[in-house]
Amino acid sequence: MTAAAALWKPSDLFAASPVKKSGSKKLQLDWEDFQGIMKFTFTISGSSRTTTPIVITRLSWDGYVGYGEAAMPPYLGETQASCHEFYKKVIDNVLPKFDNPFQIEDIMKAVDKITTNNTAAKASIDIALHDLCGNIIGQPWWKMWGFNPKDAPYTCYTIGYDASDEMVNTKITEASWNKLIKVKLGMTEAEDKRMINLIRARDTRPIVIDANQGWTDKYYALDMIHWLKEKGVEMIEQPMSKYCLDEIAWITERSPLPVMADESCQRITDIPKLKGAFHGINIKLMKCTGLYEARQMITMAEQLHMKLMVGCMTETSVAISAAAQISPKVEWADLDGNYLLGNDCFDGMKLVDGRITLEDKPGLGLTKKKGIISL
Ligand code: MG
Repeated sequence: MTAAAALWKPSDLFAASPVKKSGSKKLQLDWEDFQGIMKFTFTISGSSRTTTPIVITRLSWDGYVGYGEAAMPPYLGETQASCHEFYKKVIDNVLPKFDNPFQIEDIMKAVDKITTNNTAAKASIDIALHDLCGNIIGQPWWKMWGFNPKDAPYTCYTIGYDASDEMVNTKITEASWNKLIKVKLGMTEAEDKRMINLIRARDTRPIVIDANQGWTDKYYALDMIHWLKEKGVEMIEQPMSKYCLDEIAWITERSPLPVMADESCQRITDIPKLKGAFHGINIKLMKCTGLYEARQMITMAEQLHMKLMVGCMTETSVAISAAAQISPKVEWADLDGNYLLGNDCFDGMKLVDGRITLEDKPGLGLTKKKGIISL
């Protein structure tokens, strides 16, 4: 090690930063509740809703800020109130132990130890930390990680189930800008085939399918996958319940299409047992506690020769822009959450002709829209 390297300290980075601000050298956490309003009623196998509770977080240090987000569809079991409780513990037990935001690994390990669950609340701390550090350094994370932005894929755009043919047609029109369609199936056979036939009556774009654990018989699921392949489908997400791993492995062994784990894959510790049962995993920041663990999941999946996908909940541009940073590493991206929202409170990741476009902007590349949140 050179003498210069031995003497390196985090403040060297701040001195090199183009915009040096001065402020408190204590990490400060603030938050604001936000109700995400969806453009369409969102129906998946098992539930239907028009809004998503969200909490926007902000970490401040030395005059710099970073934003994060917890997005909480009901099935995750978290609420805005449970986030508030969690943040109080972060303020009391974690932040005072760190004098700068760059020890992301140690900070996130301490955050993870607070409770066994609260993955969305944890992700909102992780995302804000990454935005903050990137803003201080003055670089985007995809660049600091050495990813090629040209490898970022097209995102799919979800057409949720709807009983009305007219509404399905409206949703297809709404998705006309996109190159890849995602369809939520897992209803009855007649309804699943009706959705696909409606789309195929007027649209030739490739389709990926999310059954959201909705199919209950492995023989039926395999027959459906063969039928779907004939209809131009490229990939199947979570064909059966996460409790039916043996049945899913049976399907995967015979499937003519890649089968990806979503509900079966929450955190990095889930991955080893999924090898062989699925072709790959769908990484979602709200389930895996954020970018710190997501990067480790990518490494593990690559070592196990498993395919990669990045997904999202109904999220604002804050969490979507965070997930976009890892998108050059994945085969499929499902990062349309902000496009499904009618009241996004930030600008961030851009789609150009449906492709994720990573810009050379610091942190997560976020700009707060005027007049929607006060944080
Ligand atoms: Mg899914």
